[in-house]
Formats: sequence, C-alpha cells, structure tokens
Amino acid sequence: MAAGIKDFIPYIRYKEMAGLPKGIPAHDITGVGELVVRYGEVKCRHPVGTSLCGQRLGTRGALVTHLKKQHGAEVEEADNENRPSAAYLNDMRLFYDDIMVEHDRLVAEEHAGARARAAIAAADAEGMGGLPPILFTVGPLAGENDVVEISQVVRVIRRVAPCAVCRAEHGDNITDCLFEFDVDGAGNRIVGGNHCENVGIWRL
Ligand SMILES: [Zn+2]
Ligand SMILES: [Zn+2]
Ligand SMILES: [Zn+2]
Repeated sequence: MAAGIKDFIPYIRYKEMAGLPKGIPAHDITGVGELVVRYGEVKCRHPVGTSLCGQRLGTRGALVTHLKKQHGAEVEEADNENRPSAAYLNDMRLFYDDIMVEHDRLVAEEHAGARARAAIAAADAEGMGGLPPILFTVGPLAGENDVVEISQVVRVIRRVAPCAVCRAEHGDNITDCLFEFDVDGAGNRIVGGNHCENVGIWRL
C-alpha cells in the first residue's frame, strides 16, 4: 500500500503527525463535483464549519468510505493507484513535500509570533517601555524608524497595522502604521493624546 512513498520522509511526517498539516487545503473538487483523494492520503480534508474534519483513517480506501458515509461526498475514482508510474509517484512526492514545507513555514511563523510576544512581555517586565526600534541603518533614512519592518512585526504578533488611529490621521491609502504619538513641550508622550494603537509596544 502506498508503495513508492511510504518511506518518503514528508509522507511519513504527514501520516504520523497529530491532525492535519497546517495550511493544507480542503480536497480539490472535480468539474463533476467529485472530491479528489490523493495517493496514500489517509486524513479527511472535508470542510467542517470553518476548519477541516481531520479524521485519520487506516488506508486511502477507508478515507474514501469515510468521505462518502460521514460527509455524503462523491469521490473521484483512484487514478493510477495499482501500478503507479515513476512520474506519477514523483508528483505524489511533490504533493506531500509541498504540504510539509508549508506546514513548517506556518509553524516557524507561529514561533516568530510567540517569540515577539515573549520579547514584548520581557520588555514590559523589565520596564524598558517596549521593544527596541527597528531603524534604517543605511541610506537617506538611516537612523529613522523603518515603519514597514516594524509593521510586519506588529502583524506577526496578530495586531492590525495600519491601525485605525493611523488610518484616521493619514487616510486609507497607508499600508503601515506610522507609530506617531502626541508629545508635550518636553518631548514626553501626552497621556490621552493621539497615539498610534501599536506605538506602545515599541520603544520609539
Ligand atoms: Zn471527515
Ligand atoms: Zn503624521
Ligand atoms: Zn498605528
């Protein structure tokens, strides 16, 4: 069963991990409304609410039965499964490789988000007043805040950039927060002044 891919590392990882790989799409649907179940596939990708079913079955055949019985789906006839050609197996390896590359990318992104959140918590705990700014190091803007980079970190930690305050100030065409804040004559932030919603997490 699943000869030709069963020793392929991405396939083994797909099969043995708990649940579905992150970012995997629902089963493709053919022009006649049948679901496509790939060679060696054993985990249900039928949509359930806003996510995917994710149930793991023992074999591709059991997955097909599950899709029909549990989800009332029509499933496309298996292609080439009995005597898969080298080219076909190569395509299937690429399928599982792509899936696991995307999974790893999303996990890394989540870790980056967690690291950024941890850095913010640590900065708060130490009374540093936020993350160190990301500055341009070269070019005409050297020493200025790199608002594009800073906004990317803001989005990694799942906040919205540009924020509503920056939009209200600068219009809907801006693509990043400008991290502005009102200051008094001594350069201190005015309590209750007009502040970019994301400025507080940075030591700007
Ligand atoms: Zn299912
Ligand atoms: Zn401004
Ligand atoms: Zn803002």
